[in-house]
Formats: sequence, C-alpha cells, structure tokens
Amino acid sequence: MSPDDLHPQAKAILAGLLGSDGVVRRRSMAKAITMLESTRADHRSWADDLLTAMLPHTGRAFRLGLSGVPGVGKSTFIEALGLYLIGQGHRVAVLAIDPSSSVSGGSILGDKTRMEHLAVNPSAFIRPSPSSGNLGGVAEKTRECILVCEAAGYDVVIVETVGVGQSETAVAGMTDLFALMQLPNAGDDLQAIKKGIMELADLVLINKADLDANAATRAQAHISSALRLFAPHPHTDIEHAPWQPPVMLLSALKAAGLEDFWGLVQQHQKVQKAQGLFIQRRQNQSLTWMNERIQAGLQSAFKENPAVKHLWPELTALVVSGRLAPSTASRRLLLANQNHPHSSGDIHA
Ligand code: GDP
Repeated sequence: MSPDDLHPQAKAILAGLLGSDGVVRRRSMAKAITMLESTRADHRSWADDLLTAMLPHTGRAFRLGLSGVPGVGKSTFIEALGLYLIGQGHRVAVLAIDPSSSVSGGSILGDKTRMEHLAVNPSAFIRPSPSSGNLGGVAEKTRECILVCEAAGYDVVIVETVGVGQSETAVAGMTDLFALMQLPNAGDDLQAIKKGIMELADLVLINKADLDANAATRAQAHISSALRLFAPHPHTDIEHAPWQPPVMLLSALKAAGLEDFWGLVQQHQKVQKAQGLFIQRRQNQSLTWMNERIQAGLQSAFKENPAVKHLWPELTALVVSGRLAPSTASRRLLLANQNHPHSSGDIHA
C-alpha cells in the first residue's frame, strides 16, 4: 500500500504521524487510534490501509509488558521509569489492557491522576485501556496502538495490565519482555502466585522493598527458587543458555532500582537477539495475532448467520435441558452455517 493510494483522511494521518511537529503528531495518533477503533466498515477499511502504510515505520521500539495486582506500584514504577528513560533521550508510550473496564464500565488502569508527571511530559504518550469489548478485542486494539506509537517515533512502548483473567498472557504475547511485579510478602505465600503467570515472566520485580528489606529479600529468594523449578534444563553452552528470569528488588516510590532494571532489560534483549529469539518471538506473535483475528472473525460471522441465529435458541434449550449432546448441537449449527453461507455484510474481526 503506497501512501498515494490511501484515503485522503488516512493519508493526512500518516503524514502527521511521520512528521516532525509534535503537536500534529499527537493529534494524528489520536485520530489514527479512533479510526482503528471504529466499527464502521468504511473506517475499518481505511484503517487497514493506514496500518499497511504505517508498517515500514514500525517495529523499532522496545516493547515492555508489565503486570501486577492493583496497588503493587505499576503506575508509580512506570512514571519513574518513563521519566528516567526520557532523561536518557527516549520517547515513551504507555498503553493499558484492563479487561475489567468492559465489565465494570470503569477502568482500574484508566484513572487520570495516575502518572501525572509523565502524562504532561511532551516525550510521553499515555493511553488508558480501551473500555469496550472482550479481552480479545481490547488486546487487538492495543496491538494496533503499539504500531501507531512506533510509527510516531516512540522507541519504548510499555503495555501494562492488572493481574486478572488472561490479560497477562495477552500482554506477554505482544511484548519483547514481560515483567511481573510482586509485593514483598508474595514470597511467603507462593500459592498466591499463579504458576502459569510465573512461567510467562522474563523478569520479576519485587516492589516496595523500602518498606521491609528483610521481607523483600526473603521474597526474592523464594521466587528465585520457584522460578528455577520451571526453568528449562541448564545449558553448558553459555551462548545458547536459556534466559533465567532474574528477580530484582525495587522501590518505585524512591525510584531505586531503575538503572538495574534497565540494565537487565538490555542484557535480555542482547541475549535474545544473539540467539535469534527476538525475531522469532515477534514473528510468532504476529502469526498468533493473525490466527486469533481469523478465529474471532469466523466466530462473529458464524453468529451473524441467519440460519445459525434461527436454530440457536432451540438447540441451546435442548443442550441445557440435557436432551441433546453439545457436540451434536454444534455440528448442526456448523452444518447450517455451511449450507446457508451468509454473504451479505462484512466480517468483523
Ligand atoms: P498500581 O495500582 O499497581 O498502579 O499501584 P500504584 O503505583 O498506584 O501504587 C499504589 C500505592 O503504593 C501508592 O500509594 C504508591 O505511592 C505506593 N507505592 C508504589 N510503589 C511504592 C514503593 O516502592 N514503596 C512504597 N513504600 N510505596 C509504594
């Protein structure tokens, strides 16, 4: 897709994103995101063209995922880290995935008072979680938003999430490094840490280490030994040795540990790139994203099919009353979908 072939509105947005005027760039980012979030079929088609035209200008940022329960200190950390990185010449974007926002109508991560210093910094861009749709939809918008930020020249993109549902998996699946933030007392009760989430972590941060240094060190030892249990077999060949997730102490409030954190991030990226894993991770993420959207698109087209809609109430009633096996019901619905293809309308993924 050449920029010349774009819809005039998308063309103007692209020029603004790539231009040097900071104010225009921000405005263009907001417009691009609005276009990408639109459910109107014509907008979606312009947005797809815009994404394609943007793509050569994306991919150069470091994408950091961060997860932790509400109150663990994510926003305090992101504000401190963001300002530290901006001080080093980086431009920092912060995006959020908060699946609870679509259920409760209010976002845990959307509070406007969060990161107040970073929010007003001209080298930062903060966007709260999209507040509609299921996790798949919210994750989809966030992935596209990462590309917008990258095209606009942000070279560090932080995606944060609260530890609910599958949102950690979604964030780990769209970032280059996934960091898990814990409280010092978490180590005393390893049951509290979901094993599946631990396995996703490339790095564990124990925040609020200033409150109780002993508890924090204990947590560090507990979590380190737990992580060793999940670790792949030790490798004698250092060059190919798998990354062993470090567990580090942090005080986001006192901005203590930021340099160590950034040092570990750089070490991780160096190892990943040397082992060819960086590109592999991104390629896998792109293919997973594509497959997820195909599944979502097929599912929504299926549910929109009039033949399926017609049969749905009767078959679901039979399934819940135990008179029809779920597998038989699903086969009948799939057959109805196959025999009566629904051709009008677009597929929305
Ligand atoms: P979030 O919900 O994970 O974004 O957590 P916040 O960043 O909003 O932090 C929750 C509370 O913990 C706030 O009152 C912070 O000031 C406090 N806090 C965050 N980091 C630290 C820390 O390193 N030490 C201490 N003592 N308090 C912290």
